Parts: sequence; structure tokens; C-alpha cells
Amino acid sequence: MNKYLDLTIDEIHVAYLKKELTPKMLLDEVFERMDACQDLNCIITATKEEAYQRAEELSKEEVGGPLWGIPIVIKDNIITKQIRTTCASKMLENFIPIYQATVIDKILKAGMIIVGKTNMDEFAMGSTSETSYFGPPKNPWNPIYITGGSSGGSAGAVASRMVPFALGSDTGGSIRQPASYTGLVGMKPTYGRVSRYGLVAFASSLDQIGPMTRTVYENAVLLNVIAGFDEKDLTSSKKKVEDYTAYLGKETQSLKIGIPSYLVSEVVSEEVRDVFNHVVDLLKKHGNTVEMVEVSYLEQAVPLYQILAMAEASSNLARFDGIRYGYRIEDSKNIDFLYEQTRKEGFGEEVKRRIMVGSSLLSGENAKKYYDKALSIRDDMRSSFLAAFKDYDLLIAPTTTTAAYPLGQGLDDPLKGFMDDILVIPANMAGLPAMNLPAGFSKENLPIGMQIIGAPFQEGKMYQLASFLEKMLDLDLEGGKRQ
Ligand code: GLN
Repeated sequence: MNKYLDLTIDEIHVAYLKKELTPKMLLDEVFERMDACQDLNCIITATKEEAYQRAEELSKEEVGGPLWGIPIVIKDNIITKQIRTTCASKMLENFIPIYQATVIDKILKAGMIIVGKTNMDEFAMGSTSETSYFGPPKNPWNPIYITGGSSGGSAGAVASRMVPFALGSDTGGSIRQPASYTGLVGMKPTYGRVSRYGLVAFASSLDQIGPMTRTVYENAVLLNVIAGFDEKDLTSSKKKVEDYTAYLGKETQSLKIGIPSYLVSEVVSEEVRDVFNHVVDLLKKHGNTVEMVEVSYLEQAVPLYQILAMAEASSNLARFDGIRYGYRIEDSKNIDFLYEQTRKEGFGEEVKRRIMVGSSLLSGENAKKYYDKALSIRDDMRSSFLAAFKDYDLLIAPTTTTAAYPLGQGLDDPLKGFMDDILVIPANMAGLPAMNLPAGFSKENLPIGMQIIGAPFQEGKMYQLASFLEKMLDLDLEGGKRQ
């Protein structure tokens, strides 16, 4: 019987303060539900022993801030000290790090309890989590459907209500897209807002860690904790972190909101468009201005992304060579054979495909022809976005072109996943903050989300609009809950 796990974090906090609840009691409920959700395959490593040990330590302390004693799961490409970190790859199947990511330092300092590492696409490369070495996670709303990806396990864990919080990572939509498919609030912060130290690099110029949660408020509370400058990440911003919760519940009349026209073009299915249009009507009805806006190069975002992400991935994944980290073949005749065979056996198909394409893109003249060119068009796209923010407070768009689809559907088409991400990739390319907010349902009763995109470091304003819409839409998002 879950008495506390389904409460809001503020209610849990009050129960802690009243000494009605202890961290151990809450963990009992978490692991009971995790057991009931095993078929969903969202968790690669449950950290039960470590979690109970931490609960024991916490119970000797005073109750702390709002996240004290609150359980969280972590995408398995975020390094956790003494806890296996696999990136859902055979290459790192038995990798136990001796250090941890800055975000982990921060959540532990806030008193949170890590209860598991979540399933994902191998090295975050994919859109359905089906490239995982551990098999795909399943959507709690209907287990024959994908959770999306690459943060699919994190999404499924929160949507099934195993935990209130997850951390994901977003290089080309991997927080927002699974959040849309599972009915969660998922935030990809401005590039540089959250430290990437200890996030296993996929495409370093695009990667960001962010919160995946049940509600807008809970999302803002977690971003408050993980955001901020980190001297260990050279791309991390020194800009002061605001209290994002201070934006919630503020008036949202007379906002000027733009819709990038390509993001509502015929690439979007009818049912997603209907849900989105309903939101637009609502915003207008409440006195906001909503208009179409042109942003350049959006139709080229996918090929641009492919060039940049694969080039950077091929370079980042060079470190997995059988010598320093992870998997190594047994019979190593000579060093070349050791490298080749280890990488051949350790990586899955999608990862190898990207390393090969990326290496080719960076070879000789190609680097100038493709990588440098893509960088320069990306700058133009960013400038065009920034120009739009001179006239508009925020931009909105659908998050995904359709609702979640059945597992296995895109497996024989390596391009399908990229095309599904056509609406989410632009924010990564421009380094902008973007979030998913649940906005409605498909005919099959699967969640459909929408995106709110902000100017750099305008996460507060995004939460303001999101909290207003969350209240107005008042959706029942418990459809994935177990027990
Ligand atoms: N689906 C995209 C890809 O496969 C994005 C993945 C991500 O954001 N990690 O590259």
C-alpha cells in the first residue's frame, strides 16, 4: 500500500517534519513499486542497499530542505561513484566509477536518495531506447509502446510513479521527447546552465542534463538544485541561478508568444496539431498574443544535427579502447587487434554506425566541408532564434510529431528516430532552454506534449507559462501509475 509515494514532495516534506514518515518507510514503498514494475525494464541497476544505507544516515540528521529524503533515479550515462554506470552498453557493463558527476554531488547535498540507474539508448544514441544493450524500456501507459528516448528509462520510472524525480540528458531531444510520450514535465536547460562534468559525453556542444518530473513545481525545485557554475566544466555559465519556483503562479496575461511556423507544418500529425491548437486558443482567450514567426534553417536542423552529433560522438567515444575503461576482449594478440575487436564486440550497431560516419565526416577535407559548415549554419540558426526573442517572450511548438508508437516499429529504419526529433533538435542546436509540458491525449489515450522554448537563461519565464497551462489544462496524468 503506497501511502506516501504518491503525495506531492511538499506533502512528503511535511510528513517528514511531523515525524510521521522516515526515509526508510518511503524507500519501502519505492522498492515495492519498482518490483511491481520490473516488466517495464526501466531500471538497469537498482541501488537498494546503498539507498537504505543512506536512509539510515539521513535519519540521524535534522530534516533539511524540500528535497531531503526524496528518492530519485539517474540516467545511466551520469557518473555515480561506486555505483555501476553502463550507458546501456556492453562496453561499460561492469564499469564502477571512482568519482561522480557534479549534479550527483548537488542532489546528495540536498538530501536526495538515489534508488536506481535508468535504462536508455546506448550512449544516448537513439529515439526509442531500443538501442539499449539491456533491451528496451516499456511505456507504463501501455507496455507495447515505446517510452521514447534516449532517456526512456528515466521517463518510464517517473510515469509509473516509482519515484517523483529523474535526471535525464538531452543532446537532441532526449529529455523532452520521452517526457512527451509518457506525460511528464521535462526540462532541457540552457546550454551551460547545468554542469556536464560527469555526464558521459556524446556530443559535447549539445549535451545538457535536466529534470524529468510529475509536475512543473517539482521540476523547478530540482533545477534550483542542479543548476549553477562549475569550475570542472569549461562550458558552464557563471550567470547567477534564480529561484525558479518564484515564477510559478504569476500572471501570464499579455505575454507575446511566437510559434516557429516550420514546427507546426505538415510534419506534425493531425491529433498532435489538435492538442496544440487547443492550447493556442486557451492562451489567446487569456489575453496573450500568439503569432507565427519565421526562424531560419529549421528544415535543415536534422542533417545539421547528424553532422555535428556524429562527428563529436566519434571523437568522444575514442576513449573506449579496451585499455582504460570497461570491456576488453580476452584474447589480445596485439594492440591493434585488441582495439579493433574490443570496439567491435563492445559497441552496438547504432553506436558503431555513428562512429564510422562521424570519423568520415572529420577526415581530411571533410572536416571543413561538413563539420565547419554545419557549425556556421548552426550559428545562423541561433541568431535567427535570438532575433525572434526580440519580439517574443517565449516560443511554443509541439514536442513530437505523433504520440508514442509501438515497440519495434522503427527498428529497420535508422533515419526514423532522427525524423521524429525534428521538432526538438533545433533548441539543442541553438543552445536554448526548452521544456516539454503534457498538453493532451491521443485517440489511444497516450500522452501528447508541447514545447516551450525560451531565450537563453529564461527558464523562469518558461516555468511561469508552464505552471499557468498546467493549471488551466488540469490533465489526469496518472495513466501510467502501477498498483
Ligand atoms: N534522438 C537523437 C539521437 O539519436 C537525440 C538523442 C539525445 O538527445 N541523446 O541522436
